[in-house]
Amino acid sequence: MKLLIGIVLLGMTFRAFAVNTPKKGVPKYNTAAEAVYKGTVEDLRDRQCPVSGGVGSHILLKLEDGSTIEVHLATAEFTRMMDMNVHEGDEIEVTGWKLEFDGVQTIFAREVKHRNETYVFRAKD
Ligand SMILES: [Zn+2]
Repeated sequence: MKLLIGIVLLGMTFRAFAVNTPKKGVPKYNTAAEAVYKGTVEDLRDRQCPVSGGVGSHILLKLEDGSTIEVHLATAEFTRMMDMNVHEGDEIEVTGWKLEFDGVQTIFAREVKHRNETYVFRAKD
């Protein structure tokens, strides 16, 4: 099952790249539209991403309604520096802006709460 999800996601990534030429601008983070999304970490992945403009860190979040959504955190370099101790299966709370980017529903994270830690990825404005 896990492998299947991986393959599906890989397909989505390729499609996202295909529609991404020529390079589109990344929308500016919209604080006014942000909300809190609770869920379980289904996967953690570092990949090339236009949002980070390089290798970015992402969480595949399983929401309470059973759907999954990709959360963009920050550059992999940045999250490594933060020493994030988040693993598959952990429950987290993401404060961010949900939008459609490159034809896919996605969340740009501002904050991730995990147990007693809060990781902040961008300033409020
Ligand atoms: Zn990203």
